Amino acid sequence: MAPVIVYSEEESWGKQLLTAAKGLGDPVLFTFNRNVAEKLSGMYTRTYYVKTDSFDPVAISGALRDVVNKESATILLFPCTNKGRMIAGLTSGALGFEAITDAVSVVKTGEGLEVEKLTFGGNAMAKVKAGDKASVCIVSGSYKETEEAGSTGELVEIEAKAGSVEVEYSPRKMEGVDPTKADVVVGAGRGVKKKEDLEMIKELASLLGGAWSVTRPLAADYGWADSWIGISGLVISPKLYIAIGISGQPHHTMGVRGAKIIVAINNDESAPIFEEADYGVIGDLYKVVPVLIKKLKERKQQ
Ligand SMILES: Cc1cc2nc3c(=O)[nH]c(=O)nc-3n(C[C@H](O)[C@H](O)[C@H](O)COP(=O)(O)OP(=O)(O)OC[C@H]3O[C@@H](n4cnc5c(N)ncnc54)[C@H](O)[C@@H]3O)c2cc1C
Repeated sequence: MAPVIVYSEEESWGKQLLTAAKGLGDPVLFTFNRNVAEKLSGMYTRTYYVKTDSFDPVAISGALRDVVNKESATILLFPCTNKGRMIAGLTSGALGFEAITDAVSVVKTGEGLEVEKLTFGGNAMAKVKAGDKASVCIVSGSYKETEEAGSTGELVEIEAKAGSVEVEYSPRKMEGVDPTKADVVVGAGRGVKKKEDLEMIKELASLLGGAWSVTRPLAADYGWADSWIGISGLVISPKLYIAIGISGQPHHTMGVRGAKIIVAINNDESAPIFEEADYGVIGDLYKVVPVLIKKLKERKQQ
């Protein structure tokens, strides 16, 4: 079977993309996270761990290109994250691969790859065909994580390679806990009427030991936060996501599909978020959230 290279810097992504890769060929992992390499090398046929002190996209993409050439790989899978997209773009451009983003499924046909992907900002799906050399960025939650360990695969350590192109990577500084790494994320939407009211969202997140974030309008239109959750923002996979005053448009919910449990608080019982949620509270967030905060504080004092 031809190798399919999965780029992953996180365990969950490594397991999700492994499921996708298994249907396409022989899965080979590429990562710059030592922990991921060690944990997942038993699941992949081969794992390439690239040693690097920091996230240097050019060096990482250079090392990935070497691996692609060494393996004679023609299919590359990436997570639809900011870093994943960046490495996919640099690598595909340099190798002359087609690059397809926002994919939810990838299948191999006699003619190449058939990819189902989100389009019109997540409101519709499109089926596109890719030629014989392609990179595909996959949206979180599209594939279930592979759980069973396979035979112990080879772990190969490689050096990052300095590139000839200079790319400046300056991630925005986040206030508090990083939502992409937190077990609990509290998300606020336009149901929150004033910037000051975000304080109760932050307090709830802090009491739950988690992170807070917002929908795009609150960040991009109102400037209340530096980042947002959704298809054009952060993609999160917490154990618990609490969506407060969020209607649940696909642009947003595509970013939380990896969450294990979703709880929604909304005063409109017909809000689409309730279709995504495992638990729902139909009510005014200005009444519900203070009660939650009070109860959590009482519990902490017990
Ligand atoms: C190309 C493109 C990309 C986009 N990418 C993203 C993205 O990545 N992430 C993202 O979030 N959005 C994105 N959007 C915007 C997206 O389409 C929605 O407009 C947005 O998610 C809606 O945000 P919201 O749920 O906060 O607001 P609304 O849709 O206005 O929903 C507010 C909700 O709050 C409820 N509410 C009001 N008052 C209360 C109250 N007192 N108590 C309880 N509930 C209350 C209402 O019932 C309503 O359901 C994108 C749009 C485009 C065009």
